[in-house]
Amino acid sequence: MNKIINIKNTLVAIIAVSLISCNTSNDSTSKKTSENPFKTQVDSILNLMTLDEKIGQLNLPATGPITTGSSKSTDVVKKIEDGLIGGLFNIKDHKNIYEVQKIAVEKSRLGIPLIFGMDVIHGFKTTFPIPLGLSSSWDMEMIEKTAQVAATEASANGINWTFSPMVDVSRDPRWGRISEGNGEDPYLGSQIARAMVNGYQQNDLAANNTIMSCVKHFALYGAPEAGRDYNTVDMSRIRMYNEYLPPYKAAVEEGVGSVMASFNEIDGVPATGNKWLLTDLLRDNWGFDGFVVSDYTGIYEMRAHGMGDGVDVTSLALKAGLDMDMAGDAPGIDAAFIKNLKTALDEGKISITDIDTAVKRILTAKYQLGLFDDPYKYCDDNRANTEVATKENKDFARKVAAESMVLLKNENQTLPIKKSSTIALVGPLANTAVNMAGTWSVSTDQEKSNTVLDGLKTVVGDKGTVLYAKGSNVDYDLELEKRGTMFGKDIPRDGRSDQELLDEALSIANKSDVIVAAIGEAAEYSGESSSRTNLEIPQVQKDLLNALLKTGKPVVLVLFTGRPLVLVEENNNVPAILNVWFPGSEAGLAISDVLFGDVNPSGKLTSTFPMNVGQVPIFYNHKNTGRPLGNDQGNFEKFKSNYLDVRNEPLYPFGYGLSYTTFEYSNLKLDKTSITPNGKITVSVDVKNTGDYDGKEVVQLYIRDLVGTVTRPVKELKGFQKVMINKGETKTITFTITAEDLKFYDYNLNFVAEPGDFEVFVGTDSSTKLKTTFSLTE
Ligand code: BGC
Repeated sequence: MNKIINIKNTLVAIIAVSLISCNTSNDSTSKKTSENPFKTQVDSILNLMTLDEKIGQLNLPATGPITTGSSKSTDVVKKIEDGLIGGLFNIKDHKNIYEVQKIAVEKSRLGIPLIFGMDVIHGFKTTFPIPLGLSSSWDMEMIEKTAQVAATEASANGINWTFSPMVDVSRDPRWGRISEGNGEDPYLGSQIARAMVNGYQQNDLAANNTIMSCVKHFALYGAPEAGRDYNTVDMSRIRMYNEYLPPYKAAVEEGVGSVMASFNEIDGVPATGNKWLLTDLLRDNWGFDGFVVSDYTGIYEMRAHGMGDGVDVTSLALKAGLDMDMAGDAPGIDAAFIKNLKTALDEGKISITDIDTAVKRILTAKYQLGLFDDPYKYCDDNRANTEVATKENKDFARKVAAESMVLLKNENQTLPIKKSSTIALVGPLANTAVNMAGTWSVSTDQEKSNTVLDGLKTVVGDKGTVLYAKGSNVDYDLELEKRGTMFGKDIPRDGRSDQELLDEALSIANKSDVIVAAIGEAAEYSGESSSRTNLEIPQVQKDLLNALLKTGKPVVLVLFTGRPLVLVEENNNVPAILNVWFPGSEAGLAISDVLFGDVNPSGKLTSTFPMNVGQVPIFYNHKNTGRPLGNDQGNFEKFKSNYLDVRNEPLYPFGYGLSYTTFEYSNLKLDKTSITPNGKITVSVDVKNTGDYDGKEVVQLYIRDLVGTVTRPVKELKGFQKVMINKGETKTITFTITAEDLKFYDYNLNFVAEPGDFEVFVGTDSSTKLKTTFSLTE
């Protein structure tokens, strides 16, 4: 007993030291540091720890009502008391978290506080659009603020660590998790990675209203073979460095506190146990100094990958530089740090230094968060009651959702709709609150989101009439429908026959001035373990849409989707298509804002929409090949790189998105025709709003490096600006290009800008042909 009291006293003394030195702590968490300002305190605690307690710090069980896999931990309380748990994830509510933290602090021998993680992916209670949607706003300030709002709300509810941002570049819409990322472009993806990390961490992890960010999934998780989730990844180093790694690196440069290893293998070694990835690249090369957590049972899964038994795979992970084991501590999981590291140590497969290194990183994170100072700092009733889902946050989410929508087609100015119209709202997604937040929205109150029906009624008020009919189920295939509406996202199947549903829809359609068809994917058609090989809107909804079109009334397709879909038929037949993704908790209001023209849409795609699944993977920044087409029209040519049955172009390219107004680009100019390695060149272009509405345009700049020591993409995004231009107004937009922007990883993976000629393109999307040239001199 005395011994315990002495140990606790020692810990109190250590904490006191940390308080005295805490004025250095903020700097340590802002951006990267070379020195650990908590070294003394961390070392002192480490000296007090038993081997079991050390291994306990590396243990992150899943608990609480939320689960993302099949495993949940048991005996959590006892384990916390015994010092066998370092943190918990997916436990909800600050009051519960307070209770659990109290056990750790008061009942465990050393009283080391726990870290509490959660998948706060696109908002906490106030939910923003799914990340792919959010990225379509191209508004970095706004994106950063969404993460800041999420951090404020989450931290008021006991959470201090989020498994976000997910920055996996993906060019494969078959992959369901494309919904959780920022699309196909490494440059845009890097900007968003920075914005998100800064939003969550605010350069001040010690503050009460910021949380530690965890960039994931490191690395290359977005490139699984055949788009099948968790599948093998195999790619050249040069492609990795140039096209897939930049967003993770950007997050590290912004000082992200933690990194999550991905499920996939890299060069034949799972990321979870890949030393080249987690140590040589991440720490030694990029200078990352935070901690690395596995993905859910990622260590255990190395057994199925064929990397050996429990002792082998845990040793491999620890040696590789992985510090924390997520969800390994659960029944049936027979390879976990908590279960195997002791044996690994006995067998000499790891050293105590390996364990200590990982423990120090976890303790340092807890110091950075200020948990040793005040373990209950995130459990504040007052904040929980006043700072979550506030009117201000909801208004902001409504704005963000509207900014993220992409107008794909608008023939004859079908949109905007007049509020005085009689509107027939039809479709299985028109009246489902639980689907509005989309995938990975575990913390939101799904049923509180506003539906399209709610939104239209509120915004129309007594000015017009909104009629509603469901029109169809989600899918003819009941089994598929169930899989796509899991996790409480049910859209109860209607007892009526398909024909009865359709008849009801047609009867209101015939009474209307305009039909709004709210159709597409239900929320869980995308997300984890939701890969698809058919990228069409489910057939029952296509049939509904075609029947609605036959009425001859104008039809607006309000498209819900978590991925690029194949929309060839819809693009041919439907006059207006507004892609709303999954807009979040303010879905219905935001959709209404755009449909009625209170907000002019300005979103632009960050992921290419293909003509058919056979074109996948399809992306704008591809290589030219030795046999590119010789004609600008994209017509078929024998023995050139193309298809017999479909053109090479996608349906909608990267960067594409319409507005209710139109923009005309002219006068593309450079201030000089060549730059030196230290110089810069200014690009300017005039953008005129030639339509009838004020509107925002995302002006995009691409370059092409015409000759290289390795082949270079036909276009690469290197700048963009989202600008408001009033009707009739012309704005001159300028960009600066330096040699830094022209750099890429060469054959030897050196980051270089090679002298030579470059094309620079500016325009409304990646298909722009407006271009000029310059050169980089020696
Ligand atoms: C996902 C991660 C997530 C984790 C914790 C895993 O299945 O791949 O993205 O953060 O679960 O919920």
